[in-house]
Amino acid sequence: MIRQGALIIMSGPSGAGKSTICNKVLQQLSNIEFSISCTTRNPRVGEIDGKDYYFITKEQFDIQKNNNDFFEYAKVHGNYYGTLKSSVIKKLEEGIDIILDIDIQGAMSIKHITKTDNFFAKSVETILIAPPTFKELEKRLRGRKTDHDDVIKQRLKTSIEEMEKCGEYDYFLINDNLDEAVINMTSFIRSIRMKTKRIKDYKFNE
Ligand code: 5GP
Repeated sequence: MIRQGALIIMSGPSGAGKSTICNKVLQQLSNIEFSISCTTRNPRVGEIDGKDYYFITKEQFDIQKNNNDFFEYAKVHGNYYGTLKSSVIKKLEEGIDIILDIDIQGAMSIKHITKTDNFFAKSVETILIAPPTFKELEKRLRGRKTDHDDVIKQRLKTSIEEMEKCGEYDYFLINDNLDEAVINMTSFIRSIRMKTKRIKDYKFNE
């Protein structure tokens, strides 16, 4: 059977555990890749250029934006983030599932594209990953000791706006327990892989 890949849009507040869940899921499944975004924010301790993000300057970002290299982009917490078209379209055509970790603005831009583009209408699946409570999110953000207090406050403020938009997503996953969250995310991907809308060719009679 030949199928088109799924474009899995994963959003959620910083500190919800998206990257951790995603890395573990990628170890368990084949035929799936994480789309590495470009960002103008500085790398955190331990982050690797070309693995976590492509860390670029605002000038480089603007050049790529003007070249129409981005599938979507947004300004989040004062920095720019963008998904490269090159990490998405060809892979989906080849039948590889792609996970995007993007904010709600990016998710809404892509949902907008699906209204007029049949290929993306078939590709997109959206999931919001949430921390169990606001208090727990604050504890996690402060505990990772990577951001200044004003950055943490801004991220917490954004989290309230993000969680209010949960109805915009198809699936909702609370990351209360990491092992369970990984099982649930893996099950979600296994289940969307069974959707008929992405089947391109299935020769039953051969
Ligand atoms: P962080 O700085 O914590 O890595 O990410 C901050 C926010 O930017 C997160 O909500 C993350 O999902 C979002 N983000 C990361 N890459 C992209 C991207 O390419 N596009 C958009 N729209 N948001 C992104």
